[in-house]
Amino acid sequence: MAYVYDPQNIFAKILRGEIPNKTVLETEHSLAFHDIGPQAPVHVLVIPKGPYVTYDHFAAEASDAEIVDFTRAVNQVCELVGVRPGDGLGGYRLISNAGEAGVQEVPHLHVHVMGGRVLGRMVSKP
Ligand code: AMP
Repeated sequence: MAYVYDPQNIFAKILRGEIPNKTVLETEHSLAFHDIGPQAPVHVLVIPKGPYVTYDHFAAEASDAEIVDFTRAVNQVCELVGVRPGDGLGGYRLISNAGEAGVQEVPHLHVHVMGGRVLGRMVSKP
């Protein structure tokens, strides 16, 4: 399957500096910033700088360097925002919505790092 990336998506615009963001961390291949509509006291998005639509797209086509950088960026974000299990009310949820069933709003891969409160069950029933 060919993945089709839309360069006009809002995270592509953030990466080009066309719209602002509240940056938590920037690395060679990744950017982390606060979600504009936080659903928990901690709600940070981590994105790769490369043009990947979903996690499976990234896992299939990103370079090893991008994958390592992104994975380690998530670790650094957990440290920076204090959600690592064991730190106070530690713990977090990592979510990556993909496609229609996943109800993905922005078609550029992102993982949500959420924490700072007890988050409840994993998914709600329709
Ligand atoms: P998803 O449903 O996983 O695609 O979620 C997209 C997320 O992006 C939502 O949680 C939005 O609140 C967030 N979002 C949309 N626009 C921005 C923006 N300009 N800056 C930060 N977060 C954003």
